Amino acid sequence: MTGLPSHLELVQGVVLPKPVGADPVLDFVNTRSDWTTRGPARTEWLTSYEAFLIWNSYVGLLPPATVFRLIEQASGKPTEAARRLHTALEFRADLYDVLTGQATGGSFADGSFDGAARVIEKASGRRQLVRADEGASWELPEDLAQPLDQVALLAAELLTGPSRAHVRVCPGESCGWLFLDQRGRRRWCSMATCGNRAKVRAHAARLR
Ligand SMILES: [Zn+2]
Repeated sequence: MTGLPSHLELVQGVVLPKPVGADPVLDFVNTRSDWTTRGPARTEWLTSYEAFLIWNSYVGLLPPATVFRLIEQASGKPTEAARRLHTALEFRADLYDVLTGQATGGSFADGSFDGAARVIEKASGRRQLVRADEGASWELPEDLAQPLDQVALLAAELLTGPSRAHVRVCPGESCGWLFLDQRGRRRWCSMATCGNRAKVRAHAARLR
């Protein structure tokens, strides 16, 4: 598709940001622009429950067949779908507070932690132990709660695992996106956007 900035992609009729977080949970957080203000996003990419489903498929969290069936379910239950999207966006904001509080060593609101923890605990309680080839695996029921529950369970893994210490906040102007920096070398969410803008600004400053 022509006309889209290089950091965006048209997926099944929905414009989505390309994943740059090196972790699907961080890419979930990066589905809105400009976290620096904490106000409304300048650009919101999860504009509908269907867009959230398509994002899940885009980053490989749900198989396309599941997304297809859930889109059908959602069209029959628009009120529930809207409520699920609202919960997902609230969880995203709480998760951002929790992750940046830990990433910067600052403090974060207890309310955000409690909010995120409640969503994660609920998701954890919905898991079913299913017989698999070589033992068993945890699976979530295929319903309208599944997409957020899956992100929430991955968020729990991130928060409790070794990657948590490597979460960084992009310092780009009006950005605040999160990414994993395992080797301590990454500065920007993306060289194509924030890194390049910073280079251009530095260049302009040298010319002055
Ligand atoms: Zn950035």
